[in-house]
Amino acid sequence: MECILLGSGGMMPMPKRLLTSVAVRHKGRVILFDAGEGTQLGWKKAGLGYRALQIIAVSHLHADHCLGIPGLMMLRAQMDDPDPLTIVGPPGIGEFVSTVQRLLDFHMNYPVNFVEWSEAGGPVALEDRDWKLLWHPLKHTRFCLGFRLEEKDRPGKFNEKIAREMGVPQGPLWGKLQKGESVALEDGRTVSPRQVLGPSRRGRHIAYVVDTVPAKNVYELCRHADLAFMEGMFLRREEDHARERGHMTVWDAARIARRARVREAVLVHVSPRYEDDDLVRFEEEAASQFDRVRMGRDQEVYPVAFPADA
Ligand SMILES: [Zn+2]
Ligand SMILES: [Zn+2]
Repeated sequence: MECILLGSGGMMPMPKRLLTSVAVRHKGRVILFDAGEGTQLGWKKAGLGYRALQIIAVSHLHADHCLGIPGLMMLRAQMDDPDPLTIVGPPGIGEFVSTVQRLLDFHMNYPVNFVEWSEAGGPVALEDRDWKLLWHPLKHTRFCLGFRLEEKDRPGKFNEKIAREMGVPQGPLWGKLQKGESVALEDGRTVSPRQVLGPSRRGRHIAYVVDTVPAKNVYELCRHADLAFMEGMFLRREEDHARERGHMTVWDAARIARRARVREAVLVHVSPRYEDDDLVRFEEEAASQFDRVRMGRDQEVYPVAFPADA
């Protein structure tokens, strides 16, 4: 599992800083968080294949988070027989994408499924054999969602010594037990995985939280995350300006990351008013609140290791 930061900016794409978008690569598939104008450039630079792109999770209907979707859809339609695409996001995301597709009348050779947030829908946006995608509303100038991708727990460690003592011969039966299946021995006894596996091990959790003022759900989404992408749009001296526009400062984000016990935080959605040289100041301010936080830069790749206790 690894995350590729395709862009780290906010508001508008800049020559050296594309709009914030995170590609999470997991078992050959990519889940993409946000796609503003120009995200296809970041996608191409990262050398990601279009076939892998199967899910796009959109935080909100501001141009810097969704205008890039049609371009990605068109690129995907150049392949033979692409898989269906699922787009997850706020109410209206389906209408936005379908309207653009209908008016531009671009070629489509795969189905698109929309999953829109609703009050009654609960915290799970999508669920798969390997992971679930959670969403919670944030506080921005318009309805905005934060996401958390949770890899499902893995079976506990296989205890070879106990397996031997119980008379399970090394070989295919061990493999079955490791996968969580019960096995029958030649003498008629049945051994269940519970008897030979340790406690299940937590999977990896990733948070994606941008375009919000500090809010309870920011903590909810980031709590104990192994890697959290959080908005750090402004320096603290511009806090009033940030609040008026529904944003967090780097100070806010780093402080929340510490309090939510995030393992590692990457701050993104940097205002176009700052040059890359300014990021040193961002980093200093963030470091005053949390020691495992950094400013994200376009095209950085973050491998996500299993939690240390696993
Ligand atoms: Zn934004
Ligand atoms: Zn916004």
